Amino acid sequence: MLTLEQLYGINSNHTEQIAGERDGVRLQEPVAQAYIAMRDAAADAGITMAIASAFRDFERQRTIWNRKFNGEAPLYNDRGELLDATNLSVGEKIEAILTWSALPGASRHHWGTDFDVYDPTPFSTGERKLELIPAEYQESGPCYELHQWLIKHARDFGFFFPYARYQGGVAAEPWHLSQQHLANQAHAEINVEQLTNVLTKYDVAGREYVIEQLAEIKHRYIDSICNADITSGDIWFG
Ligand SMILES: [Zn+2]
Repeated sequence: MLTLEQLYGINSNHTEQIAGERDGVRLQEPVAQAYIAMRDAAADAGITMAIASAFRDFERQRTIWNRKFNGEAPLYNDRGELLDATNLSVGEKIEAILTWSALPGASRHHWGTDFDVYDPTPFSTGERKLELIPAEYQESGPCYELHQWLIKHARDFGFFFPYARYQGGVAAEPWHLSQQHLANQAHAEINVEQLTNVLTKYDVAGREYVIEQLAEIKHRYIDSICNADITSGDIWFG
């Protein structure tokens, strides 16, 4: 079980550096082991995979959030279309942020169980930059083969896609994998009262609105993930 500080991303001491990944790419030890086994199996099949982002702390998530809220980073709707933030109410702005970025304290990336995966080969020359958009994982995209392999094999290593398809909360993220057992444990520990306490301590933009709506936000953006069975099914990008 994670401590309160680990669960909400304040601490990183439940995670460790993963061998063979960039500096700073961290996961819980058993998750890292399972990931390495999966990466090796993919390599045997001629598929290269690497992690774009694994553990992220509260402060990192708070920076992303505040930049979006304050108009320093773009906002998109659930179809990925750019929004004009000047026309949005606080609630609409927060809804747009939550479609693509987690609330600080409520990111699955805090848990050390979740990570974003890609195929580094097409990006190795530096000419092309990974954007983490669905098109990169669809047919003719640079991560298509990796994604097809993961649909078939990720579950053999204990992983699933919590954002396999859009179902009214977080947008589809074909790059985001989660270690089912440990992530479910962490997820079950999250509660509105503790999260409110954490948010109260830090300068999170739009915090008053978020705290007021937190039960609804938790239901729609934290709890409404895809069933693990979808991972190996064929209902993608629906
Ligand atoms: Zn992710």
